[in-house]
Amino acid sequence: MSLKGYKDLPEGGVIPERGNSVLYKTGEWRSMKPVYYPEGCVHCLLCWAFCPEPAIKVENGRMLGIDYDHCKGCGICARECPRKEKALQMVRE
Ligand code: SF4
Ligand code: SF4
Repeated sequence: MSLKGYKDLPEGGVIPERGNSVLYKTGEWRSMKPVYYPEGCVHCLLCWAFCPEPAIKVENGRMLGIDYDHCKGCGICARECPRKEKALQMVRE
């Protein structure tokens, strides 16, 4: 990824287009990551509700896994998961 210089950035830090946060792969910052074990998951979606990123993949009310492009590795999902020993565990990258 090439980095922009300050002359290339919009004045005043204005965000010129909506929804551009999805383009930034915040997962590149991560030093820890959650590992999902679907067999232990009860699909309560607390991990989705607490995740500060759009990093918990959900379809039809069911947890599908982690979007590692956008997961920062903060560990909130694993902390809040009621089945943390069986469904979500943090490991080093
Ligand atoms: S919080 Fe845990 S049990 Fe609930 S959906 Fe997420 S992984 Fe599954
Ligand atoms: S570690 Fe943090 S950013 Fe990654 S899925 Fe869990 S709550 Fe979301």
